[in-house]
Amino acid sequence: MYILGYDVGGTKITAILGNENGRIIDTVRMRTLREYGKEGLSNQLIEMGKNILNKNKVDHVDKIGIIFAGPVDSKNGVIISSPNIIGLKNFNVTKVLEDYFNVPVTLENDALASTIAEKLFGKAKNYDNFVYMTLSTGIGGGIFINGKLYKGSHEMAGELGHMVIMPNGPLCGCGRRGCFESIASGRGITMRVVEDIKALQDSTELSKIRPGSIDAKIVFEAKRKGDMLAQLIVEETIYYIAIGIVNVVNILDIDSIFIGGGLSKEGDNLFKPLRMAVNEEMKSFKRPIKIYKALENGADLGAIAVTLYEY
Ligand SMILES: [Zn+2]
Repeated sequence: MYILGYDVGGTKITAILGNENGRIIDTVRMRTLREYGKEGLSNQLIEMGKNILNKNKVDHVDKIGIIFAGPVDSKNGVIISSPNIIGLKNFNVTKVLEDYFNVPVTLENDALASTIAEKLFGKAKNYDNFVYMTLSTGIGGGIFINGKLYKGSHEMAGELGHMVIMPNGPLCGCGRRGCFESIASGRGITMRVVEDIKALQDSTELSKIRPGSIDAKIVFEAKRKGDMLAQLIVEETIYYIAIGIVNVVNILDIDSIFIGGGLSKEGDNLFKPLRMAVNEEMKSFKRPIKIYKALENGADLGAIAVTLYEY
């Protein structure tokens, strides 16, 4: 079986050729243009699909999956609104590809797709109750309960980034203050560093870098070099991530959590102290929670996985 996947993200669009066993045969990436609109995006997806099939001498596909960075109506295959590309409101993108390639097309939100990929192709195979959390520019996620993806009443379950963990904290894009995302996401980390101008001036490593270019990766690196401000920011970040995780654990009583996104690339520098912080923060509700790094290519696999998952 050949499956064609698309990951339509805020910065890049990826076409993926894979199969039902979760094998990725090839990927092609392009930069996302903000001004695509419906027609521009349709043409781009068709072009990329044709190219990746030609390149790999594949003459047919059996299924197509599209994952999108934004809210979707997956039942009807419609993009509801689009934070990154102009003019995609209420766009039935699945119909365009169904008409062209003549195969079934599935559309899903990208965080939910990565969650499904963990279940079909990752360690989450062995778990019925788990949460996937992406710590990236923003924070998103997905929830599996009793072996099924939980979507909620309005397909909005899993917005982990918008639980408040610091009342009156930094303003979040959603309009509330102190959301998990406004503090512990890549953007949140940057904001916390550059806001403390005095500490930034005194920082041995971070003061060398233009404030606009400081990101989570640079902060973790500076910590390893012994920078005091970076150490403080990293420790705080891990503490807040632990609070976020324990909130989720207390509500859902999951057995495992899978962390993806840019921050997960820090590996043991993140996961070791995070596991300790989570255990500490559970206090008297302690239970064995497994905290895993999510699949490296979870987004690519997500675009394949959504075509195989039975809702
Ligand atoms: Zn928020």
